[in-house]
Amino acid sequence: MKPPVTVQGYRSQRVRAEYGRFSPGGILWRRFRHGWLGAAWRFALLLGRLGTRILDLVLAASTLLVLAPLILPIAVLSRVSGHPVLAREPRVGRWGVIFELLEFDSTDGPGQLLGRLHLQHLAALWNVIRGDMSVVGPRACRPEELDLRQWAARKRSNVRPGMVSPWWLRQRANIDFGSELDVDLEYVDRQSVRGDLGIAVRALPAILYGSGSATWPYQVDVLGVPIRNLTMEEALAYILLGAESEAPRQLSFVNTDCVNKAQSDPAYAACLRACDVVLADGIGIRIAGKLLRQEIRQNVNGTDLFPLLCRRLQDRDAGLFLLGARPGVAELVRDWVERNYPGAKVKGLHHGYFGPEEQPAVIEEIRQSGAQILLVAFGSPRQDLWIAEHRGKLGAGIAMGVGGLFDFYSGRIPRAPQWLRELSLEWIYRLWQEPSRMWKRYLLGNLVFLARVMWSILRRRNPAVSAEQ
Ligand code: UDP
Repeated sequence: MKPPVTVQGYRSQRVRAEYGRFSPGGILWRRFRHGWLGAAWRFALLLGRLGTRILDLVLAASTLLVLAPLILPIAVLSRVSGHPVLAREPRVGRWGVIFELLEFDSTDGPGQLLGRLHLQHLAALWNVIRGDMSVVGPRACRPEELDLRQWAARKRSNVRPGMVSPWWLRQRANIDFGSELDVDLEYVDRQSVRGDLGIAVRALPAILYGSGSATWPYQVDVLGVPIRNLTMEEALAYILLGAESEAPRQLSFVNTDCVNKAQSDPAYAACLRACDVVLADGIGIRIAGKLLRQEIRQNVNGTDLFPLLCRRLQDRDAGLFLLGARPGVAELVRDWVERNYPGAKVKGLHHGYFGPEEQPAVIEEIRQSGAQILLVAFGSPRQDLWIAEHRGKLGAGIAMGVGGLFDFYSGRIPRAPQWLRELSLEWIYRLWQEPSRMWKRYLLGNLVFLARVMWSILRRRNPAVSAEQ
């Protein structure tokens, strides 16, 4: 027997249609669709779309005009020397229409110069002018990547694909970005001219600091601190592997403040040199890499890594121990993990305000918990020195110092808004939050750090300078 059709359960299409047509909600909707309010709404939508198109045309045309003196001679030279100027690839456009994505051919001939300057993708600006693409929008997918029978893929195709995608931007800034489709759907829902302009502006530093060299140094020496040149993904893989390690490993995240401290604290400097892996935290270290001509691939800081790590731990046995911060804070972080990543296990926790007499008991608690990954949040350099001293007794495969991480995820200290993090300017927010404590670290410290890096470059170029010392 067929189940009864109920109005409340909206079991059948027919009932839903009837209910929609005659219910008060349905009547309101029809009024909206045919009334002046609906017309105003549609007009606003149209204006929004027009605004996006105007923004696209202005941005694309002005960039092409600025770069024309460079691009045109190369294109002419390629043509004259018989090399192809453009490469074309099929991509899925708005509403699933296939178009040809243009790229300057940088495989051979004069076009190689454009490749070296990472300008080959700029040919897509012509796609923008033609209306195939927008400056900002979901990535232009290959036809085989997108199954348009799925509603999510169709919804994603409601807007033009973009040269800069919000997902790419979040990925560059190492923000917990979820799947590409999630980010794209969120973008389609919220798309606006102002939002697009914001993304385009925020993408600029990401492009300028973007993937530069093809051969990355394995390790970059920043003022005596050996920074391992890993990406966020590689760092995660290293931690997960380390969790199972027999010989306990130590990992540190260093920012400009840590490098400054290591200059005047030999014990801390030695501890960082003895660490298994030291990772680059923040834009300052990346700028130092640029100045030293040893490009650092990504900003890999503990706070951004934490949610990605929890996600990976959801289907693994390895568990976390949270050591540090004020009493009650680690408990809130555990609640946060349980709420957001239900499968990830926090096997134990302890605050960071214990005296030397309690230390053996705390170490035993960590050992007994069976946690394979230990996060220590005492602030640097104390956390790193503490791990170095006790790492053989902790039972964890890997231990890392994470500074103020617990304060952020417990909600005790709010994190900078996403747009500031995308610009790698979280430090400005921290300065604004605690100016009396942070001015020395950021305003003075960053200047001192840069001066030290410049000085080390000068000494390297001119050994006479160091001989005078
Ligand atoms: N902390 C601690 N024990 C102490 C001193 C500090 O657990 O004896 C904690 C403090 O509550 C804070 C963290 O260490 O959660 C230091 O955060 P901060 O942002 O200063 O770390 P940094 O970024 O300097 O490494």
